[in-house]
Amino acid sequence: MKTPDIKRIEKTIASLKKNNMMGFYCETKEEALDKVLSLINEGDTVTNGGSETLKEIGVIDAVKSGNYNYVDRSAAQSQEEAEELMREAYFADVYLTSSNAVTEFGELYNVDGNSNRVSAILYGPKSVIVVCGFNKIVKNFDEAVYRVKTKAAPPNTKRLHTGAYCETAGECLSCGRDGSFMCDGCRGDGRICCNYVVCAQQRHKERIKVIIVGEKLGY
Ligand code: SF4
Repeated sequence: MKTPDIKRIEKTIASLKKNNMMGFYCETKEEALDKVLSLINEGDTVTNGGSETLKEIGVIDAVKSGNYNYVDRSAAQSQEEAEELMREAYFADVYLTSSNAVTEFGELYNVDGNSNRVSAILYGPKSVIVVCGFNKIVKNFDEAVYRVKTKAAPPNTKRLHTGAYCETAGECLSCGRDGSFMCDGCRGDGRICCNYVVCAQQRHKERIKVIIVGEKLGY
């Protein structure tokens, strides 16, 4: 889909609200950046999961230079320090991330190798702000799983140069094979599909805020 389907976005936002998440639509990247910043208070401790979408809307630069206490994992000088900063994320006021897919039923679907990102989405930070281009919307869970195996994981393994099968093949090793999409696939340290997480109806009302943008963002 090249252009946003507004009815589909509205349906997805209504479903997110039913699931106790906040949902917003922003037509452009610039509007999305303003929306994110409107949901953060001055002085908040803010950090983020790895995300091309966040870079594309300019929010990482904005929180780095703004009046926030930004926990910058990318500034770590060692793996130990990076681990320490990832643990600090659990005590943040605000966690910024994207989602690998958002279903029309208002579910967030995320897949993670290290799993610091999915764990922070689930518990820890007081507020989680999720930014997604309209390209991340899928019909249902099956489409979400397929999307990650064909559209999200391959460019991510390429970007991170993990050496996983899909980095060069362009889709998961499990595509077209019988068996479990979840457990099948490549083996080894380069695999980024280790934990598969669905956020459905939330107990902590409006802790998760989802901003859907009318532009293609991330992958
Ligand atoms: S299981 Fe491996 S090959 Fe399949 S999508 Fe994940 S990282 Fe890529």
